[in-house]
Amino acid sequence: MKTIGLIGGLSWESTVDYYRLINTLIKEKLGGLHSAKCQMYSFDFEEIVALQKSGNWEKATELMVNAAKTLENSGADLVLICTNTMHKMAPEVQEALSVPLIHIAEATAKSINGKGLKKVGLLGTKFTMEHDFYKDILSKNGISTVIPEEKDRQIVHDVIFNELCKGKFHSDSKEKYKDIINKLIAQGAEGIILGCTEIPLLITEKDTDIPLFNTTYLHAKEAVATALETVLTH
Ligand code: GLU
Repeated sequence: MKTIGLIGGLSWESTVDYYRLINTLIKEKLGGLHSAKCQMYSFDFEEIVALQKSGNWEKATELMVNAAKTLENSGADLVLICTNTMHKMAPEVQEALSVPLIHIAEATAKSINGKGLKKVGLLGTKFTMEHDFYKDILSKNGISTVIPEEKDRQIVHDVIFNELCKGKFHSDSKEKYKDIINKLIAQGAEGIILGCTEIPLLITEKDTDIPLFNTTYLHAKEAVATALETVLTH
């Protein structure tokens, strides 16, 4: 089994989910008392959010590159950035590594293509919804993306930072998300990417009739498949 390096704390609420999912998938595949070989580099999220808010992506890139290299130098065979947003600097991080960086949007695109969908809605931070780095990967994989209108993007973004990343899960926010999902469906979305690793803590398959792409799960699954050099079919 290969060792998985996790860049976490972005936020820790979803890093907990990654750790649970990776170990659950390893246990399902190998049985017995098997668990994941992994290492974690966990950030103070407040410091990263300050860089995002001020647009200091250069410093944020430097921190992500350093974290990834630290994991590689201490034995990680593959690295995960446990958030969608910080894949903005995925090319620089991969460039600095000699082990693979498992890309969350590539893992998600693989699942969307596996279901034969062509047009999906994307929910995430404003950075993920508005910047090109995420949608470009989907487009390269033949998938077109619809995003919420400006006011709804702000709602999705604010719920992520003011509630989900603080471990708060409110039913009125769930209802707002469901309304926004319905508007994306009206715009032709055949499925919805939960493109922020905390959104699956609020929204699940029960909340909508169309396929949901849980990026935390899909990313964790791709990591485990790579660590075990196998294919996981579910
Ligand atoms: N976890 C969220 C994401 O997947 C937000 C964290 C961040 O801003 O880096 O995008």
